[in-house]
Amino acid sequence: MNDITDENGRVSQDYLIEKLKNKINFFSEFSRLKKAIPKEWYVQLSEEKSVKTTINIKKENIISAGRVIDMDKLVNKDFYNIIKNKVFIKPIGIHFWTTYLDIQDFQNITDLYEFIFKILLENKLKIFRWKLLQFIIPTKSHLFKWKISTDRLCNVCKVEEDYDHFFMSCKYLDIFWNKINEMLKKVQFENNIRLQHLVFGYKIFDKEYFHLNYFLTILAFTIYKSYYVSEQKTKTIDVYLLFKNEFQRKMKENKLLGMNSLFNHILNKL
Ligand SMILES: [Zn+2]
Repeated sequence: MNDITDENGRVSQDYLIEKLKNKINFFSEFSRLKKAIPKEWYVQLSEEKSVKTTINIKKENIISAGRVIDMDKLVNKDFYNIIKNKVFIKPIGIHFWTTYLDIQDFQNITDLYEFIFKILLENKLKIFRWKLLQFIIPTKSHLFKWKISTDRLCNVCKVEEDYDHFFMSCKYLDIFWNKINEMLKKVQFENNIRLQHLVFGYKIFDKEYFHLNYFLTILAFTIYKSYYVSEQKTKTIDVYLLFKNEFQRKMKENKLLGMNSLFNHILNKL
């Protein structure tokens, strides 16, 4: 009895899951326990003959993979989906990123999603930010892992092309980053942009910074785009010019954010 009722004498599905969720054979234990509850209990408890024990096993339907499921008709696959979604609320890419960037857990995932899916209007920007978050924007390091490239080295610097190299430290981007940092100084943005800002945004929880985050998105997108335009940096292109054109065009297109002083300053200093 103690195994299936909580301290208030209730038979609770949440309580059962809480007790069993860390067991390896969770699914079968849960369904065995559920089956072990005599039918008469359900009847009695739902009729409220019992004063001490209440039951909520049948109270709620469960939504799994977009379907509403009767608790009685749950199969193992449903449990699996429910638990999987509970455990991995955050996409797996975020775990990669927090390890890669050596930072504490990223807390503002909902704000980041809101920014990506509601503020970024263009699909190609949404998709780009989403892929970046999933850790699947292909660098040479990825291509090598996926057996698409025979080496993991940057075509210019001949060192491993991981994300930091791809977006920040590659020689190919030196002039671009110098110009961007110069420009940012002129608009009184003194913080150096880091890879973390490109991935997780800059104070993404604060709507005041949506303009800046929009700017950072176009910045990162430009680097990504330049990689293909230059055929993996084997051709010389002006990345800064690419950015400038991209930014000016986006400013005309994005009516949701509107113009603000930061954008105005940036446009004047480009
Ligand atoms: Zn390089």
